[in-house]
Amino acid sequence: MQQNQHAPANDQDREGWAASGRDILRRVRDVMATGEAAQDRLDRVTRIIADEMRADVCSIYVRRAGDVLELFASKGLSAEAVHQTRLRVGEGIVGHVAAEARPFALADAPSHPKFAYRPETGEEKYHSMMGVPILRGGRIMGVVAVQNKDERDFTNAEVEILETVSMIVAEIIAAGGVVRRKEQTPVDGLATKPLRLDGVKLCQGLAMGRAVLHRPEISADHMVAEDSETEKQRLDEAMSSMHSNLDNMLKNMTKHDKGGDHIEILQAYRMIAEDRGWVRKINEAIDTGLTAEGAVVRVQNENRARMNHVSDPYIRERLLDLEDLAYRLLQHLAGEADIEERNKNLPEYTIIVARNMGPAELLDYDLEKVQGIVLEEGSSTAHVAIVARALNIPIIGRVPRILTRVEPYDRLIVDGNNAICFVRPGEEFRRTFKISMDMHKEKQAAYARDRLLPPVTLDGKRITLNMNAGLLIDLPHLHETGASGIGLYRTEVPFMVRSSFPNVEEQAKIYRSVYDQSEGKPVIFRSLDIGGDKVLPYFNEENEENPAMGWRAIRVGIDRPAMLRQQLRAMILAADGHPLKIMFPMIAETSELLKARQALDAELTRAKKRGIPLPSNLEVGIMFEVPSLAFQMDSLLPHIDFISVGTNDLMQFFFASDRGNPRLDNRYDPLNPGFMKMLKMVADKCNEHGKTISVCGEIAGNPVFAMALIGIGIRSLSMSPWSIGPVRSMVRSLDTSELKHFMSSVLDVGDHSLKNRLLAFAKDHHIQF
Ligand code: PEP
Ligand code: MG
Repeated sequence: MQQNQHAPANDQDREGWAASGRDILRRVRDVMATGEAAQDRLDRVTRIIADEMRADVCSIYVRRAGDVLELFASKGLSAEAVHQTRLRVGEGIVGHVAAEARPFALADAPSHPKFAYRPETGEEKYHSMMGVPILRGGRIMGVVAVQNKDERDFTNAEVEILETVSMIVAEIIAAGGVVRRKEQTPVDGLATKPLRLDGVKLCQGLAMGRAVLHRPEISADHMVAEDSETEKQRLDEAMSSMHSNLDNMLKNMTKHDKGGDHIEILQAYRMIAEDRGWVRKINEAIDTGLTAEGAVVRVQNENRARMNHVSDPYIRERLLDLEDLAYRLLQHLAGEADIEERNKNLPEYTIIVARNMGPAELLDYDLEKVQGIVLEEGSSTAHVAIVARALNIPIIGRVPRILTRVEPYDRLIVDGNNAICFVRPGEEFRRTFKISMDMHKEKQAAYARDRLLPPVTLDGKRITLNMNAGLLIDLPHLHETGASGIGLYRTEVPFMVRSSFPNVEEQAKIYRSVYDQSEGKPVIFRSLDIGGDKVLPYFNEENEENPAMGWRAIRVGIDRPAMLRQQLRAMILAADGHPLKIMFPMIAETSELLKARQALDAELTRAKKRGIPLPSNLEVGIMFEVPSLAFQMDSLLPHIDFISVGTNDLMQFFFASDRGNPRLDNRYDPLNPGFMKMLKMVADKCNEHGKTISVCGEIAGNPVFAMALIGIGIRSLSMSPWSIGPVRSMVRSLDTSELKHFMSSVLDVGDHSLKNRLLAFAKDHHIQF
């Protein structure tokens, strides 16, 4: 927990400190009861801490606007320094604690390179120092620091006590008007100003409504316990009620659903709710004198601090699940199994605003009322995003500090298509947005009506429009959109939401469900594309410096043939004598495909020997994602039936531009003539060899890009379900012969992108977007 010298507490120490921790908490609670002004309370708290912890100095720094930490109260430092001394977050030991959001203890602080000397404080005579962050709702509100003249080590127990007390300090700061509202938030925040906040698109769509902050809060006077045993009993009861509530939720879902990965997500979540380490930590926090609620928040704070330092997406998801469970537990402690009550009071049009939330928490809301979600964190693989996508609720993720910039019931607009959240938009803007929303709805309805219209161009060319999928809950969209089939089934997605590697039978079960729910429409199963950003927790290889170009996808399959063969076996079993289409990801040279095919042949031979029905028709393809393959088409094509272009990866390798780096987001364009030229070269080769070429990267779902792809001879596209309608409408208004000539004429221009030329062409030729 600490980063430097500290002495672990032995049991006796721990007991002793727990007792003194309880004393501090009681004394601090009494301060809360005085009704004094916040400044007086904080002054008193510093005296109590210094006294109980035998410290020469105790100081409270409060975070102010512009990331400045102001010395707000101090016992021991010179009185003139109070309200004068300021440190930036990251500056000095105190600033470091705030920047890292975790405790820091040093036996000799002045000799540490981070130490920032402030002459007005008179602190040069103090050597040892310990600082802990003041955290509230995942936000740093300041720092509490203690100092001693002698060089001493601090025990973990002491750090823990100070962390616990700092929770109450956080409440005093929040409740006491210590920091003016304006200062609690970024300078551009709050007030009543309208704001435009940009985030990351997690699920498309438009929504408008009132903000509901997903943030149960407990007040400071509910933090200090009268009696620890009673609190432990309350915790037990709340835990059991939470468990049975989750069980019911699972039961209901399994009853109403055909089954699917979202249920698996909930099952994994239900298991985490039993996590012994978590329950033990909460009980230990109760031992320090906190109420059950206080203890839950305490452990939650610790988790959040850990989260700041974890980059592994799977562990982050687990920590988020724990955070979600903590909120749920708080609700049960508050006797607030009255989720129904909350739902009753939800605004008719609700936009949930959360730091993050778990899938179960989303399902607790009245989904009739939830129009959109805005998260401070979240990624496209976050469980809540996966579930929301299936429910078709627009979500924007990674919107900076949204929770501090929005007040309950503020008006919000969620533009999920452009990943923008408008906070407190003016009346005129709302009216205009409402018109676009209505038009969007009308368009969606029109697309749904047109789903059975053939995607055939004006000059009679049929374009195959397939859908990309990765979870069973995606599959109903196959019929709603009129997609021809699934052009890319990402098999790694169900692997990612599990806690262990599924065996052959479990895998076969997933693929069987895909077959069942696609009702005869063709499905292309892609073999595991793990590695890179797709991490399986139970397949933990060492960290790679450059994972996107590392040991991933087919490279793993070739080096771990048993894994690849098991997956192929499961696919053959699931096909059960029906047609089977398989493709291999990240093929960089023909010989890799040959190795993958050998594994497939071995599995076919095995199946035959055992009397397992063989696929009535087998098609094998590869993902073209690595540019090297463009020059091996003649050796490759005779061995495969189709190519699917993964432009997401291909772009990053073609332009040497990391697809996950936001700074490079729009740096290079798929409509760059060079990129298009390479695709045309590959498409020509495929057409020459009579092999299908399709595109399944994100660009296939953008009507302008899709038009360009058709213009260079590609006749099959696979995209997210909501893109099929717009692309179908574009296809039906297009004449490919004119477009073909146009595309050929522009492939050698020196433009950054052909987009403007294509838009002008589309306008001249009345092509509909
Ligand atoms: C791609 O790279 O374009 C692709 C479709 O694969 P993924 O996005 O799953 O890497
Ligand atoms: Mg890819």
